[in-house]
Amino acid sequence: MAKCLVTGGAGFIGSHLTELLLEEGHQVVVLDNLSTGRATNLDAISGHPNLTIQTGSITDSVLLGEVVHGVEIIYHLAAAVGVKLVADDPVRTIETNIYPTEQLLRLAAQGNVKKFFLASTSEVYGKRPGDAWVEDDDLHLGPTSRPRWAYGCSKAIDEFLALAYYQKYGLGVTVGRFFNVVGPRQVGNYGMVVPRFVESALNGGPVTVYDDGSQVRCFGHVEEVTRCLYALVQEDSAVGRVFNIGSDQAISILELAQMVIEKVDPSIKVEFIPYRDAYGENFEDVQRRVPNTGRLYEATGMRPTMTLDRILDDIIAWKKRTM
Ligand code: UDP
Repeated sequence: MAKCLVTGGAGFIGSHLTELLLEEGHQVVVLDNLSTGRATNLDAISGHPNLTIQTGSITDSVLLGEVVHGVEIIYHLAAAVGVKLVADDPVRTIETNIYPTEQLLRLAAQGNVKKFFLASTSEVYGKRPGDAWVEDDDLHLGPTSRPRWAYGCSKAIDEFLALAYYQKYGLGVTVGRFFNVVGPRQVGNYGMVVPRFVESALNGGPVTVYDDGSQVRCFGHVEEVTRCLYALVQEDSAVGRVFNIGSDQAISILELAQMVIEKVDPSIKVEFIPYRDAYGENFEDVQRRVPNTGRLYEATGMRPTMTLDRILDDIIAWKKRTM
C-alpha cells in the first residue's frame, strides 16, 4: 500500500487508474483542473476514505508542491490531449505538457518519491512509416508549421526530461506510450474517433470519416491499459525504460465506422469529410499506427487483447446508459 498522486485523475484514463489503485488498497490523491477531465468520472468513488480530490492545475507550482508531499508513487497523466484540442490551441499544449512535468520531476527527485510513471503517447513516433513500432525506433515528427506535431514533440521532451531525471538522480521513472485508448467515459469533444462514431450512430448518423478512411489504428480498452500500466509500475525492471502500451489489433477507420454502424443501425450512412473541414488547413494525419507490444509483455506478462467487437459492445452499452 502506497500513497499515490494521479495528475489528471478525473480524466478518462486517470479515473480508471484511480479506481484500480483504490481497489488495490492504495491511498490516492487526484490533482485535476477539470478542463478535459470531469468530476462525474469519479462519482462512483468520490466518498472513498482513501481518496483525496484536489481541483487545480498542474501549472500552479505552489499547489504542485503541496500535493507531492508524502507521496511515494506519481502517475503523471495530466496533459493537453486530443488531436483537435492540440491543433486548436498549441500554446496551451506546450505550456501544459512541458513546464509542469519538469517541475513535478524536480519535486519527485527532492522528495520521497520511489516511482514516477510518465504518460506519454504514440504521437511521439509521428508519422513514422512501417509496421509495429518499437520503442527505440527513430521519431518522424512533421514540421513546426503544423501544430499537430507540437503534441508529440512536447511529450518527447517530457520523455527526455523523465529519463534524464532517472539517469541523473536515480528517480524510478517509467515511460508509457499510450496508443489509441478507448472505453466508457471517453468523450468525443476533443476529436477521439470511437466516441464520436458511437455518439453519431446512436443519434441516427451520419458517421463522419475523415479523408478516405484508409488510416489504420489499434484500439485498446481502458481497463486493460490501466492494468498494464499498474503492472509496469510494480515492476522494478521497468525503471528507466520506455514502453508501448496498447492493443496491436489493426483496423482502418472506414472498417471501424462500418463496425459501429453494423452494431447500432445498419441503415446509417458514412459521410466522408476532407481533413481541411475537420481540422483546418495545415493538418497532417498519421496513416498507420500499430505498436509492437513485446517489451510490455516481456516486463509484465500482459498486453491488451480484448477484441474490438467486445470493446465496441461495452462502449455502446455505456453510452446508451448515460445518454
Ligand atoms: N477520425 C475520423 N472521424 C472522426 C474523428 C477522427 O475519421 O470523427 C479519424 C482521424 O482522422 C484519425 C483517426 O480517426 O485518422 C483517429 O483519430 P483520433 O483523433 O481518435 O486519434 P489519433 O489516432 O489521430 O490520435
